[in-house]
Amino acid sequence: MRIQEPSVISPVIIPRAEHNISRSRISENALKVLYRLKTGGYESYLVGGGVRDLLLGREPKDFDVATNARPEEVHALFRNCRVIGRRFRLAHVQFGREIVEVATFRANRPVDDRDVHSNDVTGRLLRDNTYGTLEEDAFRRDFSVNALYYDIRDFSVRDYVGGLPDLKAGVLRLIGDPETRYREDPVRMLRAARFAAKLGFRIHPDTAAPIARLVPLLAGVPAARLFEEILKLFLYGFAQQAYQQLRQYGLFGHLFPRSHTVLNTEAQGFPHVFISRALANTDARVLEDKPVTPTFLFAALLWEPVRQQADTLAAQGTPAAEALRRAADEVVSEQIGQVALPRRFAAPMVEIYQMQARFLQREGKRPQRLLAHPRFRAAYDFMMLRAEAGEVDPELAAWWTRIQEAGHVEQPVTPMVGEARPAGRRRRSRRRRRHKVSQPA
Ligand code: ATP
Ligand code: MG
Repeated sequence: MRIQEPSVISPVIIPRAEHNISRSRISENALKVLYRLKTGGYESYLVGGGVRDLLLGREPKDFDVATNARPEEVHALFRNCRVIGRRFRLAHVQFGREIVEVATFRANRPVDDRDVHSNDVTGRLLRDNTYGTLEEDAFRRDFSVNALYYDIRDFSVRDYVGGLPDLKAGVLRLIGDPETRYREDPVRMLRAARFAAKLGFRIHPDTAAPIARLVPLLAGVPAARLFEEILKLFLYGFAQQAYQQLRQYGLFGHLFPRSHTVLNTEAQGFPHVFISRALANTDARVLEDKPVTPTFLFAALLWEPVRQQADTLAAQGTPAAEALRRAADEVVSEQIGQVALPRRFAAPMVEIYQMQARFLQREGKRPQRLLAHPRFRAAYDFMMLRAEAGEVDPELAAWWTRIQEAGHVEQPVTPMVGEARPAGRRRRSRRRRRHKVSQPA
């Protein structure tokens, strides 16, 4: 595939005075790497999300560097450097918790014209470790806004692919022929949804058009890579938008097939409310710098299929708790196969599900035991979301909130021997109770 011969392309160069990237906004470590490469006699540029986000006035997640130095040469310049990757080798320069990724310019072309094995039958790129020039490096990147280079020599920005006008217009556009680029790497479809969600950008119609048709290509992507992408989609503060994008482009169904099927049979209603509450909750936690876990996220996204399957089993006569356990095992195992959800996240998910049945049991010592469970807090938060979505009796939710806050069960809920439950208490209007408990929220 050729978009245009890279050798004939001259970049648009935006001098320092005409853009807003200030060195004070680039991490000191990234600057160190850029300068040391430069002093070592190499070209070095900041590239990718770092440049894009700085131009947008956002704080970059991390800083990527592109250079004409080979990974071994980068390694020779930095003591704190590891060369990683088999398919394409990269240098990671480590500064405490920060890693600056240094990639040698690469080209999106076969080693030579006889190299017919670099793409598989679907067009997927199997080998892309051919080193190239800066121009070639720009053209092998995914979206035009991700292919802008900040030059440490004169602090200018170089644009080979029309990334700046796209950035100004808020448009995500794949470089080159979209279908070819998706075939080379189907994960680019998920990346389109992710950047659209994160940046609030519009996917250009030509870039969007082939997605629905090419979704099945995701089947050829290693499940572990899908898992990584799911985390990037849902755990960085824009989960609600990411979910909308994934649903809109038909990508959600590949990542969460069971959820997709059951959610499609219900146009609205509490499963939808539940998921949007769960994602809003995740986003709010990220915003407040609170920890978020794949366990809770996956538990929320898979709850509806688990709940429905448990109902089916219960209708066939399986006791409720057992039905929930079996449904959870079944749905979670399937999901593990689909996107390589690691067991350390899957096992606590099943616990969260099972504990949902235990919230109904308020007799005797059971609540106290549940309260002492190491997973209580997560299961409680999960139950509260179900209550918000209208799936759990608000009175039950309020009761658990009280004992959760007190840290112990204040009073037995079962009547003492000889003591009658206050007449009519259970029959009090549901509407009134609901009204009451919604006050503290
Ligand atoms: P962020 O780090 O904010 O999630 P990013 O754009 O930096 O976004 P990374 O995954 O860190 O994304 O990748 C860095 C850069 O590498 C991208 O901006 C893009 O230029 C290039 N890149 C990453 N993945 C691909 C891909 N699958 N195909 C082509 N280019 C890619
Ligand atoms: Mg990045």
